[in-house]
Amino acid sequence: MKRQNSKEISPILTARKAVFIYSAELEKFHYPPEHPFNTIRAKRVREIVSSMGLLKNGRSEVAPVPAERIVLKKFHSARYLHALKTAAKGRWDTEALDMGIGTQDCPVFKGLYEYAVLATGGTLVAAELILSGQAGIAFNPSGGFHHAGPERASGFCYINDVALACTVLAERGKRVLYLDVDVHHGDGVAYAFYDRSDVLTISFHQNPRTLFPGTGFEDEIGTGQGKGYCVNVPLPVGTYDQAYIKAFEAIVLPLTAAYNPDVVVFELGADALAGDPLAHLRLTNNVYAEIINHLLGFNKPILATGGGGYNVDNTVRAWALAWSIFCGADADEHMNQAVGGVLLESTEWQGGLRDRTLAVSQTQRKTVMPAIEVTIDFIKANIFPIHGL
Ligand SMILES: [Zn+2]
Repeated sequence: MKRQNSKEISPILTARKAVFIYSAELEKFHYPPEHPFNTIRAKRVREIVSSMGLLKNGRSEVAPVPAERIVLKKFHSARYLHALKTAAKGRWDTEALDMGIGTQDCPVFKGLYEYAVLATGGTLVAAELILSGQAGIAFNPSGGFHHAGPERASGFCYINDVALACTVLAERGKRVLYLDVDVHHGDGVAYAFYDRSDVLTISFHQNPRTLFPGTGFEDEIGTGQGKGYCVNVPLPVGTYDQAYIKAFEAIVLPLTAAYNPDVVVFELGADALAGDPLAHLRLTNNVYAEIINHLLGFNKPILATGGGGYNVDNTVRAWALAWSIFCGADADEHMNQAVGGVLLESTEWQGGLRDRTLAVSQTQRKTVMPAIEVTIDFIKANIFPIHGL
């Protein structure tokens, strides 16, 4: 790394280290082969960033430990946890099915409980590293299961690691900004804190009229104490980089500055990228790079997780790029080109970790930008005043 060469590196990166959460133990578990969720993504991200010298011979890598049941119960019911555990052992019944366990989206597979608990443990380890000051940034690419509810498996998610991390951080007195850029509404987290002002949730996602889970409209803004602390930014089909960034800069930058969080929990689902088989946005990973640079500018600890991302090559590259920026190494173009290029192939790719720019059609311009402007205006009118903006 050539940190001294970059003028853009946030002080947090020099003062507090970035920690990558991973263990080969995670590689033992797989969703069924026909399922879109591929647990291999974390392993591949690790291979790339390691080959780029961004794990510093393992010094910045920490292994997850399984989440303790007492912590899981801060969000999930005992009944649900019991059903999940017994289903994974082969004793699955209609009560479990009623809770979403064993559906097409959330199938029962070998090691399901151990995987969910270990992946969640990774996010909780990340939270502890941040709380103890041992990490300024912690990234668990095996986390980000934002759809799971207290008593519900949903959208490939069984245990809501991100809701749990926000809960733990808030319990320890931290003001939490939860930012979710997965293409699907971060419903499990948004509703967990819907009536609270100590966790501000912001979710950017494809318009729920056209995508699972069908929630996350701009007028869902929280209730009671939490009114104005739930922000939803639905995005039209075909949303492209410049339109996305316009919304991000107009909404997230002022709200974050006004809210002044102690820590940012960042769900970095990569299914908003062009070419994702389950969604319909047209982003390149340059958007994620720009968002991360904006977040680093706030100089707050960041707990980042994976999430969706069903074009595996594009997802892996996006997360490797994210890690390189967390490490302050994105500026090193030579390394980026040489190493990233050997390991990855993709139609959206021209070498290195960054996607090439995508052309924007007239139809996209005509349909996307006006809809996004309406959403920005709504949020400015209905949420900004609550934050003194
Ligand atoms: Zn998703």
